[in-house]
Amino acid sequence: MNTPPVHAPMDQFPRAADGQLIVGGVPLSQLAERVGQTPFYAFDRGLLRQRAAQLRAVLPASVKLHYAMKANPMPALVGLMATLVDGIDVASAGELKVALDAGADPHEISFAGPGKREVELRQALAAGVLVNVESPREVELLAKLSAELGLPARIALRVNPDFELKGSGMKMGGGPKQFGIDAEALPALMARIDELGLGFEGFHLFAGSQNLRAEAICDAQRKSYELALRLAQHTRQPVRFLNLGGGFGIPYFPGEQRLDLAPIAENLAALAERARQEMPQASIVIELGRYFVGEAGVYVTRVVDRKVSRGQVFLVTDGGLNHHLAASGNFGQVIRKNYPVTIGNRRPDAPSESTMVVGPLCTPMDLLAERMSLPCAEVGDLVVIFQSGAYGASASPQGFLGHPGVVEVLV
Ligand SMILES: *Cc1c(COP(=O)(O)O)cnc(C)c1O
Repeated sequence: MNTPPVHAPMDQFPRAADGQLIVGGVPLSQLAERVGQTPFYAFDRGLLRQRAAQLRAVLPASVKLHYAMKANPMPALVGLMATLVDGIDVASAGELKVALDAGADPHEISFAGPGKREVELRQALAAGVLVNVESPREVELLAKLSAELGLPARIALRVNPDFELKGSGMKMGGGPKQFGIDAEALPALMARIDELGLGFEGFHLFAGSQNLRAEAICDAQRKSYELALRLAQHTRQPVRFLNLGGGFGIPYFPGEQRLDLAPIAENLAALAERARQEMPQASIVIELGRYFVGEAGVYVTRVVDRKVSRGQVFLVTDGGLNHHLAASGNFGQVIRKNYPVTIGNRRPDAPSESTMVVGPLCTPMDLLAERMSLPCAEVGDLVVIFQSGAYGASASPQGFLGHPGVVEVLV
């Protein structure tokens, strides 16, 4: 008999004896009182530390771990991450400010992203961070600004590779892309960097995001390494920095399972060993966003109304897609699927019913759970959406429809 696919168990968050979910050591109802409002996001420090420790335990010690802070730019969380990782990857001057405020070492900050404005490049130079350049324009501008400010430019080349990351939720390399510089155009640009006397430090290859297939990730990392090795012949300067991307996914939807890190660790160990011979000054860097933070966060919203329409139960909550676009299915998903959801103040094994969880916005897109079997809930109960530590508040249209904003806490 075929059983329908189910969500991966969300057992990273324990339950109290009364069935209540515990986040950061605090029972959920108490946490909601402490926050003083719903909706809110809560990020569990213990789980963030645990995830970083798990990665350190399996990956080769020589591989540097960077946090891609666009996944979650909450300042307190970035402050914690800065103590757990080797570097922070930023994608705007706004993120750069948060990373510097958090105490991250500028030498270990890298700045990627297409269309960097002149003022952003000036800020990057003044901060002393590595700039992952995405066009010849950025190289010429950095040369000019470096001379003007009397500060050395630190340059890595973001490569648009000649391959794609298979099975990735979001492809960000291969074919025509706004990201990076086509691999075939790089030899000429590298000669230009040498000619301008700019400091070249290495390569940044990011093929895609949200991948749950270890073999596909290993394949992309191997191809990225080979490509960087070929390109390295076109400069006189040694490669010091080899960012092989990341793309490690987390299970969001029914049928998805947690990524197996063992083959990735093995593959990286082999690449690190090759690098020791072939690019002896290079540090291999892996940059991860959601894998670090996604599973450590929940979104919590309160039931404002319970309605039954033609037999279907609807829980109308005080939060919705304006705070959590991704859970509504409108952040890059092709087919809408449910995130893992629970009623956080009730026993998970309480009598259940088919439930629609919707927000208060006047649009049918404002849907947080579609016909999920959830414990029977009443007005005042707390709906919890798991896997919400990444691409939450900062990736949602909070101004849409004028409801109050969401609060974020690190617990
Ligand atoms: C978005 C992004 C990341 C982070 O992706 P995750 O799926 O959150 O790990 C890393 N690197 C670059 C260049 C990105 O644009």
